[in-house]
Amino acid sequence: MGVKTAQLKLPIAPYSVTGYKFGQRIRSRMILIARHLGDDILTQPGTEVACAGDGRVVWAEMRLGSEQKKNWGGIVIIEHTHKDTGALFYSVYGHLYNLAVQDGAEVRMGDKIGEVAPGASPENGFWKLAHLHFGLYIGPWSGMVLPGWLRPFEGRTKLSWWQDPKPFVESYGKERT
Ligand SMILES: [Zn+2]
Repeated sequence: MGVKTAQLKLPIAPYSVTGYKFGQRIRSRMILIARHLGDDILTQPGTEVACAGDGRVVWAEMRLGSEQKKNWGGIVIIEHTHKDTGALFYSVYGHLYNLAVQDGAEVRMGDKIGEVAPGASPENGFWKLAHLHFGLYIGPWSGMVLPGWLRPFEGRTKLSWWQDPKPFVESYGKERT
């Protein structure tokens, strides 16, 4: 059984998308190579990251990066049940260290799940700047770690399975019936 969440909140304050934005197109020589599947919030290492809603941890892992191979670093994925529709959706948090949750744990909105890892560290996945990657996924869950990028022809995910995180969180629970 899923864990219904009555409310959602943004996982970090202030929430200013100073890195890649949701859906942002990455091109090389005019060719679309990827679209970003979340928001990147550049912030100080050690900044606390909170769970966006009540739910259950379905992924908590250190995917260490290196100079040669960038990665997620600390990644947490939380499954939530929509309060009105009962549909499952997922919040995705990347580039963390000091993970504070484990696979299978039930969490409440606002619980600490980890901290933003320092830039160019294995725990941040070896990206240059310390940042939180935050994504919201409404597609089918296949028990695999979710991607942070949509790459054409890769076929791993669909853009329609992803939501623009800030408007999704801010409108959740505000719909009139
Ligand atoms: Zn990102």
